Amino acid sequence: MPEKATRKRRALPVRWEELTASDFPKAVRRAKGVCVLPIGVIEKHGPHLPLGADVMAARAASVRAAEQEYAVVFPRYYFGQIYEARHQPGCIAIRAELLTELLQEVCSEIARNGFEKILIVNGHGGNINWLNFFCQAQLAEKRDYVVYIARREWDEKTAKQIAGLRQTDFGGHADELETSWMMAIRPDLVQLGRAGDDDGRPLGRLEHMRDAHTGIWWYADFPDHYAGDARPAKSELGELAVKGWANGLAEVVRAVKKDTAAQKLQDEFHERAAAPVSDKTRRRRR
Ligand SMILES: [Zn+2]
Repeated sequence: MPEKATRKRRALPVRWEELTASDFPKAVRRAKGVCVLPIGVIEKHGPHLPLGADVMAARAASVRAAEQEYAVVFPRYYFGQIYEARHQPGCIAIRAELLTELLQEVCSEIARNGFEKILIVNGHGGNINWLNFFCQAQLAEKRDYVVYIARREWDEKTAKQIAGLRQTDFGGHADELETSWMMAIRPDLVQLGRAGDDDGRPLGRLEHMRDAHTGIWWYADFPDHYAGDARPAKSELGELAVKGWANGLAEVVRAVKKDTAAQKLQDEFHERAAAPVSDKTRRRRR
């Protein structure tokens, strides 16, 4: 008897690894086929934050979003673009071909499990170019799923509040803001007393080459893989940022759930791409 009662009360988990195989099909249905994939990397985060900080943040925001608008959230995905931190202890930087192949394989495994929509939530700046390329490269083959990348972080009001609370006006990695959101989600992993051990101000060593880009650009500015000054970080700022991010993501999940156009367009595109010469669907101006 009590067992039955427990069964009824138990909410369907949003975290993929917390679901049972028997509840999995129900979760896919409730999620309307949307799986959220939080991506980061394992890299140094200044002298004071844990190596997995950005994927922890992406996953925390994803889980909070999925609790508002149900979706299944994939486990932390650590394998992203991070060659620029290979000189720092603890960094895992996988070669480019495998990196992309692995992510494709994971997406196709997610899809094989019934999901038709994969929403990537990225927590690491160094992944942006690679993920945009990955998303574009989905058109190389016909697929029965759509990969989306969440673009929205927080609304204007939250952005203003964040700006109002921030004390530093530069950063980008392990900085005041990133440290603050770690203080909000995992305060036990933040060693704020060490935030001043390294210098995170940009060195501008390639300032003379502004019109030509090169892969060593980040190292040129931030050789210690710390961009910012995290000393004024505070959990109040972090809570605001994570909450704002989660709310924005919940809206993205809602929009992705509703979307029926992307898959149809993909199918139409591949039909035309299979035989461009005999294609009759060209939209001529009358
Ligand atoms: Zn990062």
